[in-house]
Amino acid sequence: MPPPAASPTRWLFGDQLGPHFLDDDTSPVLLVESRRVFARRVFHRQKAHLVLSAMRHRAAELGDRCRYARTSTYREALAGVEGPLQVVHPTSRAAVALVLEIAAVRDVDRLPARGYVTSQADFAAWAQGRGEQRLLLEDFYRDVRRRTGILMDGTDPAGGRWNLDADNREPPPRGRSTLGVPEPRWPEEDEIDQEVRADLDRWERDGDVEFLGRDGPRRFAATRAEALAALDHFVEHRLDAFGPHEDAVLAGDPWMAHSLLSAPMNLGLLDPLEVVERAEAAYRAGQASLASVEGFVRQVMGWRDYVWHIYWQQPESYRDRNRLNARRRLPDWFARLDADATEAACLRHTLGEIRDHGWVHHIPRLMILGNYAAQRGWRPDEVTSWFHRAFVDGYDWVMVPNVVGMSQHADAGVMATKPYVSGGAYLNTMTDHCGGCRFDPKVRVGDDACPFTAGYWWYLDRNRERLEGNQRMGRSLGGLDRLRDLEALVAQEEKRGSNPP
Ligand SMILES: Cc1cc2nc3c(=O)[nH]c(=O)nc-3n(C[C@H](O)[C@H](O)[C@H](O)COP(=O)(O)OP(=O)(O)OC[C@H]3O[C@@H](n4cnc5c(N)ncnc54)[C@H](O)[C@@H]3O)c2cc1C
Ligand code: SF4
Repeated sequence: MPPPAASPTRWLFGDQLGPHFLDDDTSPVLLVESRRVFARRVFHRQKAHLVLSAMRHRAAELGDRCRYARTSTYREALAGVEGPLQVVHPTSRAAVALVLEIAAVRDVDRLPARGYVTSQADFAAWAQGRGEQRLLLEDFYRDVRRRTGILMDGTDPAGGRWNLDADNREPPPRGRSTLGVPEPRWPEEDEIDQEVRADLDRWERDGDVEFLGRDGPRRFAATRAEALAALDHFVEHRLDAFGPHEDAVLAGDPWMAHSLLSAPMNLGLLDPLEVVERAEAAYRAGQASLASVEGFVRQVMGWRDYVWHIYWQQPESYRDRNRLNARRRLPDWFARLDADATEAACLRHTLGEIRDHGWVHHIPRLMILGNYAAQRGWRPDEVTSWFHRAFVDGYDWVMVPNVVGMSQHADAGVMATKPYVSGGAYLNTMTDHCGGCRFDPKVRVGDDACPFTAGYWWYLDRNRERLEGNQRMGRSLGGLDRLRDLEALVAQEEKRGSNPP
């Protein structure tokens, strides 16, 4: 009898750490900690910590069946593994290319992607069925609801409406500095975290790597147990408050009622389907309002899956799109998270939060950071790289569509029908930053001119021809024509350029 064939080794990437990336309890597992990844780019210190902590925790949980290779490169690690390999579809194009190269010279079984609610085949079928119609998030999301039965009563959406955005999107509550919901559940660091911290300190001292931002207590789940505890805590204590103020910003309440689950979901510690099922159960049990649960489910099962599919559905050149011809370099003060460089309260506060935590919620990302980058005409590829490196939950698949498409409108409208740019009036309504700012959101020219208000008109003026065909921009462009001080405004903003306001 021939000897039994060796079980293939499951080669896990560092964002495939949950149980759903394995199919049995015995087959060997390979995890590769490649220091070169950190040497090549300047990541936020807390992001490096989280990823290494999560990988090392997973290796410790898997025990003897896991080979944890600390090598300079993936190839070096793979050379030490005999027999066939199995890989679940990785999450970046670069990692797929690596797998294909390895598969050209040895036996590699490539498995479909996991960690999303819908498969790539599901999305392809949906997209094909639309013919020439745009791939709208809203239509995709409804299709996923029907397909999964989440928040459905038979063939109807729960509560009779698909979209409860109108019940959400409220400005921040007046006269309050916090939403008043319990803080998120914070994980407790252990000896693995201490080891990671010591290693990162040493690498930095030795000059092997450089980091962005400050070190600090680990805020995000690094194990499955911590991720489940964070999910439970969110659903029980915070989900009900998620919807109404999901688009609002309070300087004194960085977390608001957001879930902080992007990091554990993107590490593969939580499966998004279990996350939305848990949220739906809270609605069915009367523990959370439909508006909040629908808003949350839309983010996870709608936006997250949609962004993932757009990353693969668009050609590789998508990441280099620059439809608005934004050519200015990302300035150093912004790139290095130098919050103290600027007097603009919203920018100062947001950069400080990223420096300290490697995280801010969706609205500061989109309407403060992304909005400012677009207004200043910073290069979308540099903005994408910066977001990827500065945020604990940043990965190529999620950053490219969110930055190139959603926030910089560099893709000519694949992701969003109009650019997400706005002046200080929007920020004055949806945040509480302006009250304490030395600029005035109503002023566009002069010493007190809000850089967002002036920047908004400057952006429209620069991009007038490129945006003219967009019906949704008609009113804004009409407003531009009525500005009497446009010339002075443009001269002022050209002078300000990328300098810190
Ligand atoms: C410029 C820009 C950059 C972004 N970069 C990232 C990133 O690197 N990684 C990341 O996971 N999300 C990113 N997002 C999306 C979103 O801002 C974050 O997922 C969210 O703020 C994470 O915090 P949370 O877990 O508390 O989210 P919640 O507000 O609690 O939302 C629940 C979940 O919905 C999902 N989600 C919501 N919107 C999106 C979206 N547009 N794309 C993908 N998932 C979404 C996330 O998984 C999130 O955990 C980005 C958005 C913008 C505009
Ligand atoms: S006035 Fe302008 S710069 Fe100041 S906080 Fe408001 S939007 Fe930001």
